[in-house]
Amino acid sequence: MSCQNYREALSARLDGEPLGMPVDELDGHLSHCPTCTAWVGAAEGVTRRTRLAPAPAVPDLTATVLAALPRELPGARAAARVRLAGTALRLVLLAVGVAQAALAWPVLVSGAGAMSAPVHLAHETGAWNLALAAAFLAVAAAPRLAAGALPFLGSFAVLLLALTLADLSAGHVHADRAGAHLVLLAGVAAVAGIAWRGRRRRHLPALAGRRVTA
Ligand SMILES: [Zn+2]
Repeated sequence: MSCQNYREALSARLDGEPLGMPVDELDGHLSHCPTCTAWVGAAEGVTRRTRLAPAPAVPDLTATVLAALPRELPGARAAARVRLAGTALRLVLLAVGVAQAALAWPVLVSGAGAMSAPVHLAHETGAWNLALAAAFLAVAAAPRLAAGALPFLGSFAVLLLALTLADLSAGHVHADRAGAHLVLLAGVAAVAGIAWRGRRRRHLPALAGRRVTA
């Protein structure tokens, strides 16, 4: 076998590739061939220099990349608006709850003032109105309760609205008394808004998962 064959095997060994011959045979040749020994020494030097060559200089792009980034993450402003709307709804509900309690309390305590109704009927009306105030305040404090409170609050508001409109047209109720029910309607609308926001938030993880797998 010629020196050329052994040098091909030596080159393969430097590159970590199969030698194409037994390793003992290659080392045996090296031990008595000074020209191949010198050749492999030079080849090893070249390989080492190539592998240890300094990396080419690259410009520092840190400032450029940072300058190209948006000032805020996409959607951050929309998320802040949504949070603000949620806080506003809860504040509205808090105000409505306090107003509703202020309307209910005197009737509940005195048993009078409810359009000349019998004392117990006035008490019952006062208890209902105070319970509504408690529900509004509870949802303002813990928005997760909104969906559970909505079936009762919503049906009560719809029924009362229909009956009040009928009573107004028939002259059974004064406009100022009917106007007090607007507080109730505002509260139920705020509870519905909070419940709707909570439902949308619960659906968000599912939507995100669908988008990833699509
Ligand atoms: Zn040789």
